[in-house]
Amino acid sequence: MTTPHSPTPRPSTADASADAQHGAVPAAFEAVPPLDGELCFDGAALEAASGDFGRMVRQAPAAVLKPGSADDVAVMVRYCRERGLKVAGRGQGHSTYGQAQVPAGLVVDLGSLDAVEIRDDTAVVQGGALWSTVVRASLPLGLTPPTFTDYLELSVGGTLSAGGLGGQIGHHGTQVDNVLELEVVTGEGELTTCSPTERPDLFRAVLGGLGQCAIITRATLALVPAPRSVRFYVLTFPSVAALTAREAELIKEGRFDYLIGQARLTPDGWIHFVEAASYDATAEDDARLTDGLGHTSAEVQDIAYFDFLNRIAPTMDLFKSIGEWQRPHPWYDSLLPASTVDEVVTETLAGLKPGSIGASAVILLYPILTAKCRTPLPVMPDEELVYLFSLLRTASPGADSAEEMVAANRAQYDATVAAGGTWYPIGSVPLTADDWVRHFGAFWPEFQEARHRYDPDGILTPGQRIF
Ligand SMILES: Cc1cc2nc3c(=O)[nH]c(=O)nc-3n(C[C@H](O)[C@H](O)[C@H](O)COP(=O)(O)OP(=O)(O)OC[C@H]3O[C@@H](n4cnc5c(N)ncnc54)[C@H](O)[C@@H]3O)c2cc1C
Repeated sequence: MTTPHSPTPRPSTADASADAQHGAVPAAFEAVPPLDGELCFDGAALEAASGDFGRMVRQAPAAVLKPGSADDVAVMVRYCRERGLKVAGRGQGHSTYGQAQVPAGLVVDLGSLDAVEIRDDTAVVQGGALWSTVVRASLPLGLTPPTFTDYLELSVGGTLSAGGLGGQIGHHGTQVDNVLELEVVTGEGELTTCSPTERPDLFRAVLGGLGQCAIITRATLALVPAPRSVRFYVLTFPSVAALTAREAELIKEGRFDYLIGQARLTPDGWIHFVEAASYDATAEDDARLTDGLGHTSAEVQDIAYFDFLNRIAPTMDLFKSIGEWQRPHPWYDSLLPASTVDEVVTETLAGLKPGSIGASAVILLYPILTAKCRTPLPVMPDEELVYLFSLLRTASPGADSAEEMVAANRAQYDATVAAGGTWYPIGSVPLTADDWVRHFGAFWPEFQEARHRYDPDGILTPGQRIF
């Protein structure tokens, strides 16, 4: 069973060294060999690669590669390595603190490598493909990736570099837990494949590895049978402790196919709720799913599976239309052990004012069973049950400044570490080299060794500021 989803059409560029280069060529890039894709030096391409969703850090690269093939990525990584130039992959640039930026170096814009092919019960996808494209290609065959981020317009390479946390984690783990094989370009410029059995050290260091050892050009993803519809519940609980206690029970039982929690500041104070989904359930299942949970209110709806996965898209469109999307996003994401989550979250929420988080802020609080997370990264606290606690702040007009929010993130990070937590490294926290060593913990020696082996000159992904 094969359904190819063609990559986005783009001009053929047989002689990239002459015709396909756009803008004045800096001296460092004068000797580039022919490429299948384009190497861009024009203002628009450099501008687009200079920022990100965070809108706080801006660093212009010297060049942007829009690869026509994985070979292009390998050629250009080797080229940059020989000249001491830094390189980073870029998916959708939805990181928030310069993670995909390369001052005066080369950004590899993977958006031009976006093909998706469904082969039996796997999806073979190029690194720049969006998750929305993957699921649109698999659903007609009755298949779906088992686990998603809440927003589908992120690149596969981008979320696999971070981890990919979502509400299906209680059954299927993270997105990186559902990768069967990767094709990557290492920091030496070698195009190679890795999997749990082939170069497992590289596989382990790339999944959730923040682009430090290789650029992902292709991933083979597991697929599972797709539900047709979803019965979707929003259930409100009176306190943080009531919410987390119920989430703990529900995720251990596996009662719902999807489970996340949120807290929201309203004019009447904090509300706490779970969003829970049961696949192919009907109203007849309501009693079995929700009786006795102790919730104070419930909203229920039936929704088509794709619309369920894509349900935050209208809110994102709203944020774009009112300007919130375009504002700085000093996001904070942490992973807290169950033993300290209530104390940290209750105290944190008590200290937040509307201005501390902004008009379109989202606060996530959802449970993760660490036994379901089989890859070493992202780093989780060492308990059976942990919680993602995210403060997705926006520096809206009248709210704290982006700088104040970043400073608050750093204080929150220190509180997280003191409580035995780790951070999910997609947000905006200034970390020192020592913080990073502590962050990786027991995995640090293996991660450091992989970095030295696969990127010996340390040219990959400087925006993460790890090495
Ligand atoms: C609205 C929104 C909702 C989100 N929801 C979730 C969520 O539910 N769960 C979750 O886990 N995360 C979520 N995220 C965070 C998101 O998963 C990460 O920020 C992710 O890295 C962004 O993907 P991207 O394609 O924009 O990557 P980019 O921002 O372009 O890159 C992120 C990092 O990965 C590197 N990179 C990118 N592509 C590659 C590649 N092919 N190979 C190697 N390195 C690469 C970059 O150099 C950079 O360091 C959300 C972000 C936003 C903006």
